[in-house]
Amino acid sequence: MRRIVFLGPPGVGKGTQAARLAAELHVPHLSTGDLLRAAVAAQTPLGREADGHMRAGRLVPDALVLGILRERLAAPDARDGFLLDGYPRNLAQAEALAAITPVDAVLAFDLPREALVERLTGRRVCPTDQSVYHVAFHPPKVPGRCDRDGAELVQRPDDRPEAVGTRLAVYAEQTEPLLAHYRTNGLLRPIDARGSPDEVAARIRAALPGDARSGAATRSRPTAGTRRRGPGPSGG
Ligand code: AMP
Repeated sequence: MRRIVFLGPPGVGKGTQAARLAAELHVPHLSTGDLLRAAVAAQTPLGREADGHMRAGRLVPDALVLGILRERLAAPDARDGFLLDGYPRNLAQAEALAAITPVDAVLAFDLPREALVERLTGRRVCPTDQSVYHVAFHPPKVPGRCDRDGAELVQRPDDRPEAVGTRLAVYAEQTEPLLAHYRTNGLLRPIDARGSPDEVAARIRAALPGDARSGAATRSRPTAGTRRRGPGPSGG
C-alpha cells in the first residue's frame, strides 16, 4: 500500500517532494494547506474562519481541518493510497487520522532552522496556477513573473518573516512530538532534507516501503487538493 505521510517543519520542502512522489506513485497529493488555501480563496465559511489563523502562522482548529481531510480522503482516487502533506500536525490529529485510515510510512524531513527561514522567506507563488519559485534557488525567467502564465508572483502571507517565526514555534511545540509517536509505532523514516530536490528525492525513494517503491499503478491522476510545483527547493 502507498499510504504515506510527509512530516516536517514548514520550509523543509515537503510540498515539492510530495508533488513529485505522488506523480511517480500515481496517488493523490493531499495537502491540507492547499485545501485550506483553496477554501480561503473561495471565501467559504470554513475558509473565512481559517484565514486569520493561517495569516498569523497558527494552526487552524482541528475540527475544521479534519472535516476537509475526511471529505478528501473519502474520494475514490484516495482509496488505494495517498500522500498526505501537512497532516497530522499534533497528537490529536494523529489520533483522528488513525481512526480514519492506517498509514504505511511516515517520512520525517529535517533541515537546520536557518535553511528553513531562507527557503520560506524567499518563496514566491503564482496566484493563478500555484507554481512555486524561490528568489535565489529557483527564480523565474522574468523576475517576479510566472514562467507558465506570466502572472505576477506573490508572497504567501504566512511566508512573511513575522509569521514564519510563529510557524516554526508551533511546529516545535505541537508537531515535533509526533516524531516520537511514529517512532514508537515503527512507522518513522527520517529524511535528511539538505541539498537539491533531486538529492532529497533519491533519499525518499531509498526510504520507502518496498511495495511503494516498486512502481506506478495505472490509476488516473486526480486534481482536487493537489498542487503543481516548480522544480526548485521551494519549502513547504
Ligand atoms: P502548509 O501549506 O502545510 O504550510 O499550511 C499552511 C497553513 O495552513 C498552516 O500554517 C496552518 O495555518 C494551516 N494548516 C495546514 N494544515 C494544517 C493542519 N493539519 N492543522 C492545522 N492547520 C493546518
